[in-house]
Amino acid sequence: MWPYIPELLDRPVPRYTSYPTAAEFGPVDESFHEAGFDDLAPEAAVSLYAHIPFCETICWYCGCNTGAANRAHRLAAYLDALHCEIETVSERLGNRRPITQIAFGGGSPNAIDPVDFVRLLDHLFIAFDAFDARLSTELDPRSLTDEWMAVLGRAGFSHASLGVQTFDPELQARIGRVQPADNIARAVDGLRSHGISSLNFDLMYGLPGQDCAMLAETLEQAVTLRPDRVALFGYAHLPAMIKRQRRIDDSDMPAARERFDMAALGFDLLVGAGYEPLGFDHFALPGDSLAKAHDEGRMRRNFQGFTDDDCVALIGMGASAISSFPDRLVQNAKNSGQYRLVAGANRLAAERGAMRDAMDRRRGAVIESLLCTGAADIGHLETSDSLDADIARLRAFGLLDAVGDHIRLTEDGRPYARIVAALFDAHRAPQEQRFSSAI
Ligand code: SF4
Repeated sequence: MWPYIPELLDRPVPRYTSYPTAAEFGPVDESFHEAGFDDLAPEAAVSLYAHIPFCETICWYCGCNTGAANRAHRLAAYLDALHCEIETVSERLGNRRPITQIAFGGGSPNAIDPVDFVRLLDHLFIAFDAFDARLSTELDPRSLTDEWMAVLGRAGFSHASLGVQTFDPELQARIGRVQPADNIARAVDGLRSHGISSLNFDLMYGLPGQDCAMLAETLEQAVTLRPDRVALFGYAHLPAMIKRQRRIDDSDMPAARERFDMAALGFDLLVGAGYEPLGFDHFALPGDSLAKAHDEGRMRRNFQGFTDDDCVALIGMGASAISSFPDRLVQNAKNSGQYRLVAGANRLAAERGAMRDAMDRRRGAVIESLLCTGAADIGHLETSDSLDADIARLRAFGLLDAVGDHIRLTEDGRPYARIVAALFDAHRAPQEQRFSSAI
């Protein structure tokens, strides 16, 4: 059983899908975005991400940049702008090869018409000569039609992530995502029959009214369907920042201790069911490409979470999409109207971003290594008395081992991985109120 140390867990910490995190981004202009492409080595492996900020119905807990897909004109105008951005980005990228992966997320990519999706995919293939790229997408099982699954199979998608969250009907009603279990089973069977070989379930603990027994029931149903991967996230209830969460009755949110117990239970049940734990909240069946990457020390962390993608640059397209270049991070305009205006005029749509100087890159590498492998060499970082004291404190709790400049999380330290990583985040103190609890 993991040790429960409330004084460590009451401090919000980032999820570190980048370093610096998006909370540190400041205003940037098109030339900042352009320089990211200019400085990219011609042979650098690149992956692409396309953001579809629409969903059939909006879940109350959702913190994503998405809106209802009920206005055909707005949706069509957005896709037109995205096609423009594909042209703009492919010109900036030139003939660089290879394109390693193309990922679709949102929102729910399957909120758009499958014909529109095929047009988008064809355009990406042709504009970037990306016919060999690995294809993945997020999907909402509630609106996943047979036609959609057939399209994904014919296009050669190998990976898909399904928003499941919980199988409990009562909890589903409380978070505004009613989704019968048959719906999930149908999506799993259909996607597998069309050749999508790696399926992920996103699940949540810490939901209002949820207890360990309810989580256990959900996990039991989940593992029966044998998803190749499971991401088990703690629900972050931030109604002051995320307006749609105000619809959730939060009168019986689980206490910190209950959240911790649910995270621990989830870990035990998934490991007991044969899943390999990866990082602090992902699990995969042995043999899945992410588990292999983890075992071989190749697992990475990017805006999509843990990944086996080893690209040098990840180019995000669409409203709010983030691009990661070796020396900078760039986020497109979040507001889809503003995005349409800029991208539709064949301009790069950068709105915010951050440079990554040499020290940022070193700090980022330590944070990524801690989260992905549970260990890091910190000899190339500046030391300070306060860092030494923090490390000594975590060692005294039994969460961390240190030999020379090498630090390693112990098994007890696994749930504290983000807290350990935050020791190396030079920005964390002024921004901490924006993040969620580590558990
Ligand atoms: S389907 Fe996914 S992206 Fe859309 S509102 Fe629900 S949780 Fe958010």
